[in-house]
Amino acid sequence: MNNPSPTTQPMVDEPLPQPKRYDAVELERLTAMVQQPSLFYWKGPQTTAMIEGFRRHYPLKHCVPCSSGSAALHIAVSALRLRPGDEVIVPPLSDMGTYIGILYQQGVPVFADVDPRTYTLDPADVRRRITAKTRAIMVVHFTGNPCDMAAFTAIAREHNLVLIEDCAQSWGARWQDRPVGTIGDFGCFSLNDFKHIGCGDGGIVGTNSEKYGPHLNNWADKDYGRTEGGRDPVTLAPNYRISEPQAAVAAAQLTKLPDIVARRHRIGEFLTASLAGTPGLQLPHVAPGNLHSYWFYLLRLDLPRFSQPRAEIAAALAAEGVACGAVLLRKAAYRWPVFQNHDIFGGTWPARDAGWTTMDYRTVNCPTAESILADCMRFQLNEAMTEAYIDKVARAIRTVLKRMEK
Ligand SMILES: *Cc1c(COP(=O)(O)O)cnc(C)c1O
Repeated sequence: MNNPSPTTQPMVDEPLPQPKRYDAVELERLTAMVQQPSLFYWKGPQTTAMIEGFRRHYPLKHCVPCSSGSAALHIAVSALRLRPGDEVIVPPLSDMGTYIGILYQQGVPVFADVDPRTYTLDPADVRRRITAKTRAIMVVHFTGNPCDMAAFTAIAREHNLVLIEDCAQSWGARWQDRPVGTIGDFGCFSLNDFKHIGCGDGGIVGTNSEKYGPHLNNWADKDYGRTEGGRDPVTLAPNYRISEPQAAVAAAQLTKLPDIVARRHRIGEFLTASLAGTPGLQLPHVAPGNLHSYWFYLLRLDLPRFSQPRAEIAAALAAEGVACGAVLLRKAAYRWPVFQNHDIFGGTWPARDAGWTTMDYRTVNCPTAESILADCMRFQLNEAMTEAYIDKVARAIRTVLKRMEK
């Protein structure tokens, strides 16, 4: 018998707390919505309320709600009017949504490595990847931890690059007391069902740029100039419109954002404090003055210190009732088949076939991202958790790791 737990009762002896995400606040908006004669987004009352709600947290001049976070990022990239083969620097630890818009615009995602302690883009490696074709840097505030925006704004200014913030995982996070998403040229957010706030599926992109802002809506709406009233598309733009049902839920969710973020932040910091000093753990590093909004909690294990491989440690933690996983992403993004096979359109990559780029994703390697994927452990965290619950989680983690020390 190889029972990973010596006790019969798991140390975390209560079910995973589950927040009640939708309630009377959403219902009130949805009830008002069904009285409307139209569910179309343009100047719709729910979409208008969503924009106003977003602006209360993110005071950006031009805000375009849309159908997903991927759409928000694609809209931002479209606005740049990339030439085929233009490069956008991206991290390899992210969601496919980070890369989709770049590839659809015939741009080239160029992977730079991440910082070993924050898991976000490493400014020094970003500098090394800049070429004459670089047009933008797309930073991802991964897990909810703000990137080093002082470094990235300096790099962008120096090299005349556009700075896009992928904030899909970082609702409510703050860099030096400024909300992430308002520091670069574009802030892009997701409201898919798994983010801090959700409306089934949805997204929003905002900018203060007078160069890109006035036409931003066209990139989400078939290049139909709603303000000019014309249906005279000048460029190719998809239909990424939101609709009133999604916007109604999003508007309600946005009123809950500060409370959700405050709770997640407190719980995340409490877990870090509770695990501080535990041998064999590298806890997430938050730069002084920043606010991490903990979409999830990611730490690293000093695996040589333990007698068991990571999967066994995760299994032992799960047996103690800890909601965790050994696998964050199966691979760094450049190792996904879409990149390895250069299968972008119809089994080929026209941008490469045409000679606009010589990028070969089979040769890309970001060693720090690879080592994070090899030794990280992901813990669930949500706003319904209490300090008493996290205290049990932290005690279970410390106990299991002690048992597994060499
Ligand atoms: C979720 C996510 C996206 C995509 O958002 P969708 O709404 O699912 O399209 C993009 N980037 C990151 C970092 C994400 O976590």
